[in-house]
Amino acid sequence: MKIGIGYDVHRLVEGRKLFLGGVEIPFNKGLLGHSDGDVLIHAICDALLGAISEGDIGLHFPDSDQGIKDIKSGNILSFVGKLLKDKGFKIGNIDAVVVAEAPKILPYRKIMIETISNILQIDPAQVGLKGKTTEGLGFAGRKEGIAVYAVALVEK
Ligand code: MG
Repeated sequence: MKIGIGYDVHRLVEGRKLFLGGVEIPFNKGLLGHSDGDVLIHAICDALLGAISEGDIGLHFPDSDQGIKDIKSGNILSFVGKLLKDKGFKIGNIDAVVVAEAPKILPYRKIMIETISNILQIDPAQVGLKGKTTEGLGFAGRKEGIAVYAVALVEK
């Protein structure tokens, strides 16, 4: 068994759609990024890549690559899932914390878990997800951005 940790932050800006966990969420701002800015998927990818000693997202999908501008993060997760399988690993479980003052995560929790587990072809029970506020403190509290912590356990 191996474990990995992932952390990511994206800035909330006007004029972008908000994607979290592969799900478009109605909100007055979206996450800035070279991709669709899906900070939850990015942190999960980094946890999985860390667990299998394959660096991080930036290594496989560099910001400098204009060919992948606005790439759907679901495609990145799908790539990571395939890499993991190719290396002979299976996912044990994933757990993630979305740190956001707004929007509320709970109403979208189930569909996010379904979307993530579908992409990775695992059981939804293998994906943990919760939302936390920071009681108004820091950049997340000021709604300037969203942060995500994720861990993943893989087995061979
Ligand atoms: Mg990112």
